[in-house]
Amino acid sequence: MNVIRPNRLLSALIAEDEQSFFTSLSPFAAEKHTILHAAGLAATHVYFPSSGMISLLTVMNDGHSIETAAVGYDSAVGFNSALSGRNSNCESIVQVTMTSMRINRAQFCQAYDRSPGVRKMIHTANEMLVEQTQQTAACHALHEANSRFARWLLQTHDYAGQDELDITQDFVSEMMGVRRTTVSIIAASLQEAGLIRYSRGHVRILSRPGLEKLSCECYATLARDTVQMKPRAVPPGAPPQDRPKLQ
Ligand SMILES: [Zn+2]
Repeated sequence: MNVIRPNRLLSALIAEDEQSFFTSLSPFAAEKHTILHAAGLAATHVYFPSSGMISLLTVMNDGHSIETAAVGYDSAVGFNSALSGRNSNCESIVQVTMTSMRINRAQFCQAYDRSPGVRKMIHTANEMLVEQTQQTAACHALHEANSRFARWLLQTHDYAGQDELDITQDFVSEMMGVRRTTVSIIAASLQEAGLIRYSRGHVRILSRPGLEKLSCECYATLARDTVQMKPRAVPPGAPPQDRPKLQ
């Protein structure tokens, strides 16, 4: 069971000022590998995760894709496509089973037009997304695959909130844009070093300090940017069934 935490964006909104926005939200859960937004289509909903992780993939014409950002309880998915109505070349796929609150596109756009608080929330999320995609582009181009794998494991571990992760080598190779054999060699070396235990699509994190030492600087940079946004408490006006479970 992944850890459920208040979504940071929703927690930063003042619930009393945004009653109609909160009442437009509905719970939504999705299993691993669920596609929230397919490439080439506009978003129908905006999702505010409270657990799990969603990978944003850039999809090429030949079908190959690579992860350009990951989103969890710290942000939202689909807001840019929902606002513009453009068909994005980005696919959003659930990487770690998620729970969330979601709002449909029409209600989200109305709230955005009406509320300075919602606009501020989305501008913050967009700034974080742009920074993350820029950092990820630099990371893919400049940093070694083993350091990038350590970064990716740390990020996934943060969002999942548990030591056991269901990760296949095929999926990691797609996320990182490297060959499956490269992932296999790196996973074996990390296991040899006592940082992880890997078997049949399951990874157990054994040493976060060891992974942090191996990771490139991008993990610390992205984690620092995320924690700069301080959340408020759980929205006091949210209906009881919508309130995230604090752990
Ligand atoms: Zn990096």
